[in-house]
Amino acid sequence: TRKHLIAGNWKMNETIPEAVVLAQEISNLMERDWLEMVDVAVCPPFVDLKPVKTVFEFDRVDIALGAQNVYWEPAGAFTGEISIPMIKEIGCAYCIVGHSERRNLFGETNEDVNRKARALIEAGVTPIICVGESLAVRDEGAYLDFVCAQVRAAYAGIDGDDALATVVAYEPVWAIGTGRTATPEQAEEVCAAIRATLAELFGAEAADRVRVLYGGSMNEGNAALLLAEADIDGGLIGGAALKAGSFTEIVKAAL
Ligand code: 13P
Repeated sequence: TRKHLIAGNWKMNETIPEAVVLAQEISNLMERDWLEMVDVAVCPPFVDLKPVKTVFEFDRVDIALGAQNVYWEPAGAFTGEISIPMIKEIGCAYCIVGHSERRNLFGETNEDVNRKARALIEAGVTPIICVGESLAVRDEGAYLDFVCAQVRAAYAGIDGDDALATVVAYEPVWAIGTGRTATPEQAEEVCAAIRATLAELFGAEAADRVRVLYGGSMNEGNAALLLAEADIDGGLIGGAALKAGSFTEIVKAAL
């Protein structure tokens, strides 16, 4: 019942000319009828958003755009930041929030993630709220508590109707960029726990409608088995999203 969502996180990769080539390659390989069965988005760096959008519009290919980060204030003296009105105007339907790289390298807190998620919902842009434990937390054993606490913090002050306009991405830090994918069982365990937390917060019916993605070394070889799990509703793809062939094969695996 939940439509799969495959989202590519390009991270800090691709100059404008490179982004245009990659978008063109993705458009060329993407079968148009797949896009009726699965939602697809790409999240390039800010400067690439407009050029990528232009490629997809010219090709009339229904691939959505997302930003990788945003600031919660609408405008003002916030040097170096990008606002929600800016990403909305440029055509972003989604915005990644609280990616582990932002939490760990740039000091984003659960409170920041919550502020960003609330401001995005209010503006009608779907936040893709990232959660996930480090290897230390997994080894220590309390990873379900850790991830579910991140979920609770991210959704503080958000009501059930608004929660429907969100996506969660479970990205175990130890699986990101390492080639060490979570097994389908490991990923399903946590995605199911995330859905149970959403059910506690918003009721089972709402929780049933929120998409929970898996991210971390997902590729065309492991996507099908991960996506076959009951509580995994798509993928947030890093490295494999930079190869048009791999990315489109993952979309195919999500059909
Ligand atoms: P990789 O697919 O490169 O492991 O990255 C995952 C990720 O962080 C997506 O947001």
